[in-house]
Amino acid sequence: MKKFSGQTALVTGASRGIGRAIALALAAEGANVVINYAGRAEAAEATAEECRALGVEAICVQADVSKEEDWARMTEEAKALSGRIDILVNNAGITRDDLLFRISEEDFDAVVKTNLYGCFHGLKSVYRLMMKQKYGRIINISSVVGLHGNAGQANYAAAKAGIVGLTKSMAKELASRGVTVNAVAPGFVATDMTDAMPEAAKEAALAGIPMKSLGKPEDIAGAVLFLADPASRYITGQVLSVDGGMSI
Ligand code: NAP
Repeated sequence: MKKFSGQTALVTGASRGIGRAIALALAAEGANVVINYAGRAEAAEATAEECRALGVEAICVQADVSKEEDWARMTEEAKALSGRIDILVNNAGITRDDLLFRISEEDFDAVVKTNLYGCFHGLKSVYRLMMKQKYGRIINISSVVGLHGNAGQANYAAAKAGIVGLTKSMAKELASRGVTVNAVAPGFVATDMTDAMPEAAKEAALAGIPMKSLGKPEDIAGAVLFLADPASRYITGQVLSVDGGMSI
């Protein structure tokens, strides 16, 4: 028996980067996975194929996590797999980096809608089912930037800090129901998101990492699997930093 055999996991933003690594790691431990994505259907299908090759069921669901109606459709499709959603990983996220005076309301809105409302809608879409199951593991992906701030990322930092408050509050609301809610705060991880950063910003980020290297998506997946483990039943409302020592 693998750790997550018979369980169903929904991972948002799983077509690429950290979400893809999380979906693959969960599948490798026996979970059936729902691979959410925004627009890159081919990348999502490639992740799903890799998961199926590990012997589990995997479906792709296009849904904009910032939209409540998309979540309603997605959770119905997820429930069609086994009637259960055991693990929810709210991972989908975007950046629209700039100094505050250049951040438009539209860019602030877009970042908060995807990163923070994405988690809010995700939580609202699964909590009743998880309460009924008397079991659930919810893991929200925050960021080192949500804990410490970062010049040029006020919108992103606000959204990621909001995720921390949401995580702790929901942990308290669901603690007596067998449902844990935790967050993972990655540092700088090599994905398309960090690839898009200007070279100078990348160098500055590296200089602040005691381990002197970017993280790999698999590093974050390892922390998510730890929190998703049935054995982690007594851990809730925590923020686990996975950042090569950046936040020490
Ligand atoms: P990424 O490589 O840019 O991938 C983003 C993923 O999110 C893609 O699967 C994308 O789908 C999906 N997505 C974007 N907007 C969406 C929406 N509205 N609805 C549904 N899916 C959406 O990002 P990443 O670096 O893996 O980051 C994953 C998470 O970790 C994010 O929450 C990010 O903020 C957080 N994080 C990342 C780092 C880092 O250094 N990379 C550090 C701290 C925190 P498509 O492929 O279809 O576009």
